[in-house]
Amino acid sequence: MTLKRLESIARQHGTPVVIIDHDVIRKNYADFKRHLPNVQAYYAVKANPAPEIVRTLYRAGASFDVASLPEFMTVYDNIKHLPPKEQQDFIWDKIIYANPTKPKETLLVLDKYKPLVTYDNLNELKKIKEYAPRAGVVLRLRVPNTGSMVELSSKFGCDPGEAVDLVVAAFRMGLTVEGLSFHVGSQCTNFQNFVQALNIAAAVMQESRTRGHEIKILDIGGGFPAPYDRHVKPFSRLARKISAEIQRLFPKDIQIVAEPGRFLVATAATAVARIIGKAVRDGKTCYYIDDSVYHTFSGIIFDHCQYHLQAFKKGKTEICAVFGQTCDGLDTISHAEELPDLEIDDLVYAKNIGAYSNASSTWFNGFPPAKVVHVNE
Ligand SMILES: *Cc1c(COP(=O)(O)O)cnc(C)c1O
Repeated sequence: MTLKRLESIARQHGTPVVIIDHDVIRKNYADFKRHLPNVQAYYAVKANPAPEIVRTLYRAGASFDVASLPEFMTVYDNIKHLPPKEQQDFIWDKIIYANPTKPKETLLVLDKYKPLVTYDNLNELKKIKEYAPRAGVVLRLRVPNTGSMVELSSKFGCDPGEAVDLVVAAFRMGLTVEGLSFHVGSQCTNFQNFVQALNIAAAVMQESRTRGHEIKILDIGGGFPAPYDRHVKPFSRLARKISAEIQRLFPKDIQIVAEPGRFLVATAATAVARIIGKAVRDGKTCYYIDDSVYHTFSGIIFDHCQYHLQAFKKGKTEICAVFGQTCDGLDTISHAEELPDLEIDDLVYAKNIGAYSNASSTWFNGFPPAKVVHVNE
């Protein structure tokens, strides 16, 4: 989208505003499928749960990874009216519930959909057996997260050494282990994590087979990095590596799925905010904008992601600080941005802010989340 169009949309709708370009979402999905043609992409809804995004990705052919009952219902309600829908196959083909820990109340509701759900310990398995006995299960493995922007391995995944016992335990209870899954950590720029994870999964699958249990699905999770800066190696290179390992390690008839979140939506959104204050502290210009780290810029805190602000106005830039609108000192967007000399009411924007951003916006200090505008839907 041109800067001119961006600015005109922001002027029309007012700030703070997040502008989501569905052409970019469709392009990212197409890129994913082009480089990993044999992998079905289950979009991780938590990255950005806008129903408009769910519908665009569903139409493009994607499936969905959900991690809560509200996310499950968001997807279900937004795709169930769209063809095709052969009930049971449809649910598994279209939705995986990939949060290894589920409250029993959630399992009770999910059971009637005969969902596909993940687990990584015996207590969870017992809960699934009791409250959602019609679910199919996928075992989440713990794999290396070295160098990923967001680590997940200390919270999720069974030890590879316990994996086969957990597979056997599920079958003994009368549940069917349909698949193995892992997550290499979000924004994984160390591609070796995928290689190691695939090797771990292959060993578990092989040993399960020798114990008499054929596992049909391999879920390679999320973590595919968004091109935030030029240091991120191209996705095509990662895809080549993953494809080569899968071909080397797994039977040909295995079904492969992935759960990309960030990769599909990060580059699709731009946040536009307005300068609402300007001060000079210790010789440095400080700008205050009408958004914050409690709102669209929440990723600075929760996602360890730095966003760069740019101005629509041209001119010689200087180092300045940018703060959010709330009264909290933590609400610092950046201590070192390069911006031209700006005035109150000038607009600034941050690109690549579609993932883990407005999804975790709050109402802190009474400021509502930014408006969201969808274009090219
Ligand atoms: C968050 C999450 C994802 C998406 O991760 P990205 O790094 O955004 O691709 C996928 N699977 C699970 C289980 C998750 O928790």
